[in-house]
Amino acid sequence: RKPRVAVVFGGRSSEHAISCVTAANVLQAIDRDKYDVIPIGISTSGHWVLESGDPDRLSITDGKLPEVDVTALPVLFGANRELVVNDPGSVPNTLGEVDVVFPLLHGPWGEDGTIQGLLEMSDIRYVGSGVLASAVGMDKHFMKVVLQAAGLAITPYVVIRDRDWTRDPQASRDAVAALGYPVFVKPARGGSSLGISKVNSADELADAVAAAQAHDPKVLVEAAARSPREIEVAVLDGPAGPEASICGEITVSGGGHEFYDFETKYLPEGDDFAALSIPADLPAELAATIRAQALTAFAAIEGEGLARVDFFVEPDGRVVVNEINTMPGFTPKSMFPLLWAASGLDYPALVDRLITLATTRRTGLR
Ligand code: ATP
Ligand code: MG
Ligand code: MG
Ligand code: MG
Repeated sequence: RKPRVAVVFGGRSSEHAISCVTAANVLQAIDRDKYDVIPIGISTSGHWVLESGDPDRLSITDGKLPEVDVTALPVLFGANRELVVNDPGSVPNTLGEVDVVFPLLHGPWGEDGTIQGLLEMSDIRYVGSGVLASAVGMDKHFMKVVLQAAGLAITPYVVIRDRDWTRDPQASRDAVAALGYPVFVKPARGGSSLGISKVNSADELADAVAAAQAHDPKVLVEAAARSPREIEVAVLDGPAGPEASICGEITVSGGGHEFYDFETKYLPEGDDFAALSIPADLPAELAATIRAQALTAFAAIEGEGLARVDFFVEPDGRVVVNEINTMPGFTPKSMFPLLWAASGLDYPALVDRLITLATTRRTGLR
């Protein structure tokens, strides 16, 4: 029989909608002659359902963000890699064995090692990084610790935990002032720029911390890179080891957008303010350095399968790693598939390579 691939999307994080958009595209790109495809949605409340995966419903239309259809049949993974109907009265209650899960989830409860842990427990193969790499990649604090230990340059940062901010906000304020304004305030575990603010002075700090805390009690404050160019590199595993794509650049300007925020990333009106240049117009030597650093970052977190590494290049040519994303977006506007397409691997071939990698992956302790 054909390998059965469960595409899991949606999820409990604030990136639910982006995951749905990504899944719609992946579901359309998977070769149905080669694979049996089962779309599984996780609702914002955490319920797992057998989704239709209808691409029209899972797109951003008139600014309305898509959601998993929570009224669909409830399912869960049982023993022996079997997908079962999550309703004790249902007969028959098994939907058969699943060979590979494609966890197309972004943010906490999906890109952070949690679903990876669940799949490890159930001995099910899956696309992408394992538990540790996913968790390290998701937590911007530990990500920086690991990337710095691997010799990569990072932006200076301060961690503000909710208890620090409650007990002694002045200590946090002093630490942030020592970084020097402007700063970027971020939820430690997040994505799609949700909860992120650029803060120009101390009197704006409290609002920004509150906005980030709405996503994560742990907050990261980073010194802003000055007049940076934003460069991204896609990393893809292969039989001969991980490969780095060509570099892409994002330029954001106008419309009051001070950085690559949610609107410029995903909403149609954002197109007027964010331009993607693929390949980035960089001297060959600098591009090679950045691509090598992307592979270093991937190896540093012990990434598997895929990742997108985001960099800043400062006006003096200094390269700083901003972050690594272990399950980057696959929307039509997303850098990851666009970089691979420009590097010679189109969207369906990319999806096929990721699934093939997962089917041959070892399970258990690696
Ligand atoms: P995603 O996972 O969707 O790439 P994210 O939510 O993890 O995004 P970051 O990539 O850390 O967020 O930051 C979002 C954007 O904010 C960056 O693409 C950049 O435009 C801006 N930004 C973040 N940190 C800095 C910084 N230290 N200096 C300058 N700009 C920054
Ligand atoms: Mg990120
Ligand atoms: Mg992300
Ligand atoms: Mg980013």
